Amino acid sequence: MPGLINTHTHIAMSIFRVSTEGCKLYEWLHEKIWPIEEKLTKENIYYASLLSFAEAISTGTTCVNDQYFMPEETRKAANELGLRAVLTRPLMDLEGNIDERIDEFRKFYETRDKQNDLITYTVSPHGLYTCSENCLKKSAELAKEYNLPIHVHFLESIDEIEDIKKIHGTDGVNVLKKYFDGIHLILAHAVKLTDNDINKLKNMDCGIAHNPISNLMLGCKIADTTKYLKEGLNVALRNRWARVWK
Ligand SMILES: [Zn+2]
Repeated sequence: MPGLINTHTHIAMSIFRVSTEGCKLYEWLHEKIWPIEEKLTKENIYYASLLSFAEAISTGTTCVNDQYFMPEETRKAANELGLRAVLTRPLMDLEGNIDERIDEFRKFYETRDKQNDLITYTVSPHGLYTCSENCLKKSAELAKEYNLPIHVHFLESIDEIEDIKKIHGTDGVNVLKKYFDGIHLILAHAVKLTDNDINKLKNMDCGIAHNPISNLMLGCKIADTTKYLKEGLNVALRNRWARVWK
């Protein structure tokens, strides 16, 4: 059989696995993960990436679609192991400066080895609830400039639905349509899709990265992928992102 593909990872985060105990998504991000991540060093990310990649290989996974900061370290680890990886520098600006994040992405992407087909790239606004309109607009411009897909968290938790409305004045699918029309989308999680969302997404260029273990650990329930597949949505391993993006 061909190697398996993990369509949504934060590869260096497997070292935090135990931290999900009893938490909901927002509590986990705000109280546990983001404060620890501020202390991570390049060396931490390099070794954590190596560890997670070794675990991926041990389960027959030969390709991961990752979204994490200091991605140069993850790229170095993937190169050493010969693993296929789709990498990015996530963009978010509810705190911090989006232009600095974009510069970091550009620097990362521009220093790629163009001869290396094993490492490809996405542009990755973290989520519609952690990105301002400006951040999403600039992400779309970047994706068009480099002809890259967008990899974004989408409707993972119930809290997110209200926050998207507060920040963007409309629902999640409309936000995707507004900013990313014509760009291939990898939607991570997509747990909370309504029938109306499914109908709209069917006609968009998108795939859903299904993450049932993460969703259960963080109390988000799991996506109704039986329904999604029946309705013709593109789910997880059949996601078209696996084609080579340069
Ligand atoms: Zn994620």
